[in-house]
Amino acid sequence: MPRPSDAAEIMQRLGELAACTETRGEITRLFLTPAHAQAISLVCGWMQQAGLSTRLDASGTLVGILPGPSQDAPVLLIGSHIDTVRNAGRYDGCLGIITAITLAARARTLSLPYAIEIRAFGDEEGVRFPVTLTGAHATAGNFNQTWLAARDHNDITLATALANFGLNPQALAENTCAAHRAFAYLEIHIEQGPVLEAANIPLGVVTAISGAARFEVTVTGRAGHAGTVPMSQRQDALAAAAAMILAIRDIARARPNVVATVGRLTVAPDATNVIPGTCQFTIDLRAPEDALRHQAEHAITAALHAVAHADNVALALRQTHEAAAVTCDPRLQTILAAAIEKSGLPIRHLPSGAGHDAMAIASLCPVGMLFVRCAGGISHHPDESVMESDVEAALHVMTQTLQSLTPTDFAPGNPPA
Ligand SMILES: [Zn+2]
Repeated sequence: MPRPSDAAEIMQRLGELAACTETRGEITRLFLTPAHAQAISLVCGWMQQAGLSTRLDASGTLVGILPGPSQDAPVLLIGSHIDTVRNAGRYDGCLGIITAITLAARARTLSLPYAIEIRAFGDEEGVRFPVTLTGAHATAGNFNQTWLAARDHNDITLATALANFGLNPQALAENTCAAHRAFAYLEIHIEQGPVLEAANIPLGVVTAISGAARFEVTVTGRAGHAGTVPMSQRQDALAAAAAMILAIRDIARARPNVVATVGRLTVAPDATNVIPGTCQFTIDLRAPEDALRHQAEHAITAALHAVAHADNVALALRQTHEAAAVTCDPRLQTILAAAIEKSGLPIRHLPSGAGHDAMAIASLCPVGMLFVRCAGGISHHPDESVMESDVEAALHVMTQTLQSLTPTDFAPGNPPA
């Protein structure tokens, strides 16, 4: 039988990796579980087949190394994650790692002026512990010691889980996971959204990973009898909340790249014949630029107060989360775009609304991301799907990118033009 094409081999390996799961019949691979260990050993074997030396760092990140021309050669990091959400698809995270292995195998013949380190992170989805991106933060030298005390739903701490996995949590304190001499980080990832598919474009250059803010809103009116209180005298917390939610939607709609979601709503007393007295809901607000997000946030705050005033209800707004946007390095964007153009494909720049390991690496070195179109924009779901021809295109573009990268262009003191 002839050897399968590189892209076909990647698709086949993704299928094999999908079999590393905690739950039969679905893909569920949480951080530091036996399924994660199984995935590490499978991926480790493929890395070694590609001629890479391998090790597992203290944060549970599998590292595959292709040496550079000298001991102290600069290092290109290529990463993504091999953990999944519960009942996941097979491409989110894994596509980036499996493709990187094939790329590293190709790179052996390219005599590049740098080393390549593939970093297969194990904790991107943050499903098991109430902390996330711990592996990527460790690679960046930013592991926070307090994370070791985080507990999963069985009350096992991260420190214990790492130790049970054969790792030494103490090494995290000594920062031994940090990547040295990294001049840039690249990540290949499925888009997880419908933009590329709608535009009929296989690949996209990521401009930024959106920053996010979350709020909890409490609207307090007055509960009352649904039959006896005239409409003019009501303080209906739910009706006011409904007007607020539509205002939030309209504010986001009016601003390109801003997305706002009200995903949870509770009503009290929650009875058919009682006017709602209080209503609580959440807001998740994201934008690729922090200024844009702050602007939307101000507009939302003003609109909510206006509704509260008009509807005679009290309003309390509490911020529960904030993460700054991360801009993808303009030089890496240019190199990726040029490689796409050289492949004869249309160039599309787009922000990422979802978080990625790249966010945590951005404090270490410039980061760049290549998105691969996925069917229906579906992710975190077994129906996740990617075309082999798009994987072929991603391989082609990334091979070109590896050849275009010049580490000295990224030296400190040589900022983006
Ligand atoms: Zn992912």
